[in-house]
Amino acid sequence: MDERSNRQALVSRILTFSCVDGPGNRLVLFLQGCNFNCITCHNPHTINHCNHCGDCIATCPTAALTMDERGKVLWHEAQCTNCDKCTDVCTHNANPRIKRYTVMEIRELVRMHRFFLSGVTVSGGEATTQLPFIIELFAALKSDPELKHLTCFIDSNGHLPQSAWEKVSHCLDGAMIDLKSWQNDTHRWLTGRDNHRVIPSIKYLARVGKLHEVRLLHIPGKSDLDTEVEPVAELLNSLPDTVQVKLNAFQHHGVVGEALDWEKCSEAEMNRFHQLLAARTGDRRLTLPRVYL
Ligand code: SF4
Ligand code: SF4
Repeated sequence: MDERSNRQALVSRILTFSCVDGPGNRLVLFLQGCNFNCITCHNPHTINHCNHCGDCIATCPTAALTMDERGKVLWHEAQCTNCDKCTDVCTHNANPRIKRYTVMEIRELVRMHRFFLSGVTVSGGEATTQLPFIIELFAALKSDPELKHLTCFIDSNGHLPQSAWEKVSHCLDGAMIDLKSWQNDTHRWLTGRDNHRVIPSIKYLARVGKLHEVRLLHIPGKSDLDTEVEPVAELLNSLPDTVQVKLNAFQHHGVVGEALDWEKCSEAEMNRFHQLLAARTGDRRLTLPRVYL
């Protein structure tokens, strides 16, 4: 990579230590913007980019938001108390607290924390909507003698076409892919998008040894991974034994709109789904949720 690269990402949040976003302890970048519009999204303010309408400015109790002379909303981080009032009031599913980071700035942040890290995960929003940044960041980490041992992961909805996965796979160590529904109509209703690329993404990443985890979201009476358990199990059985399968239970935390009226996935309901799948997937370990909120 060109050392002078100034490629930037729009970042909503950075965690310098996480043990739930891939193997080991990881630095996680949450990028702003998503190409799905899930009814059940737990972080809906990460979906869109701010349109600078200014509606959130007056709600800020610390004057951390202002409008500049060009009509752009500015966020003054030092004054922000992270009360979330601005994202609560935004009807555009956006967030005014977005920062731009260059590849080099993130590389230096990773370097600062390198002794405590197993790797870096790029999440979202949908991470792959900023794929050129990810490719340059991972290439920068892989070419740095002090950082090349760190693994590079992407947490994704799987909507990326194979041709784009091929561009990043040389510097990717693992991907975690969400499968939200099997039938295309159900998937389109839940996410606003077809799932015609999600299952091919899972298969392609498995084929090239880059699939770390598949996550199955169970929404009782709404998603169809339980009623379509035969093809779902067939897909899981086609994956290498090293691929982890995680079962996610629909909960209300962070959700807005109609899905708040939907039944949460209880432990008993998740156990029913687990038994359906386990009966068809042999020895494969299916990880259950640890908590039900
Ligand atoms: S974050 Fe939302 S409410 Fe605030 S300016 Fe942007 S679009 Fe408008
Ligand atoms: S989160 Fe920060 S910017 Fe948003 S309303 Fe609260 S103090 Fe203001």
